[in-house]
Amino acid sequence: DDFELFDPMRAVTRAVDMVEHDCRLAGISVDVVPTEQNCQVMGRQVQLEQVLVNMLTNARDAITENGDDAGGIGGLIRLTAMIDLDQQVLRIAINDNGGGVPEDAIGLIFHPFFTTKDVGKGTGLGLSVSYGIVEGMGGHIDVRNEGDGACFEIVLPASHIGE
Ligand code: ADP
Ligand code: MG
Repeated sequence: DDFELFDPMRAVTRAVDMVEHDCRLAGISVDVVPTEQNCQVMGRQVQLEQVLVNMLTNARDAITENGDDAGGIGGLIRLTAMIDLDQQVLRIAINDNGGGVPEDAIGLIFHPFFTTKDVGKGTGLGLSVSYGIVEGMGGHIDVRNEGDGACFEIVLPASHIGE
């Protein structure tokens, strides 16, 4: 296949660049906490960018649709990347304050075509495609509600840590 080692923080920077303008217009700030050390991930950078853009867009949608103040004033998306040295994995957590995933939906959101958005606003494919991409890179995605919103965590095998 066409997998290669790449620096995942490049994908983070590019994905955040892609959504930041839209978020700012919606009154949402995007905070990035990068890893303390470098690492490499095996896969395709553009695919990780696709996963991140989908999750950041979902977070933005949750804040503008379900947030306390529709309109997104005070909206916050925090992306935290950290290397887990014990497990030799990279964890990229995306946390928002958009109210979270309803409990009755949390087991369904990775299914293809599951969406709670209006017709034309969501296909329901983003998370199922994202899960497939991350699995293809040897990882997985966890989700939980935390604080005032959802927290999606991408877990990927990491190598060349600290080099
Ligand atoms: P789509 O964005 O087209 O609806 P996704 O597969 O990306 O499809 O997401 C599926 C569903 O998961 C969304 O419609 C929404 O109900 C839920 N969801 C995803 N991300 C979040 C989030 N950050 N906060 C709350 N709900 C979310
Ligand atoms: Mg989506």
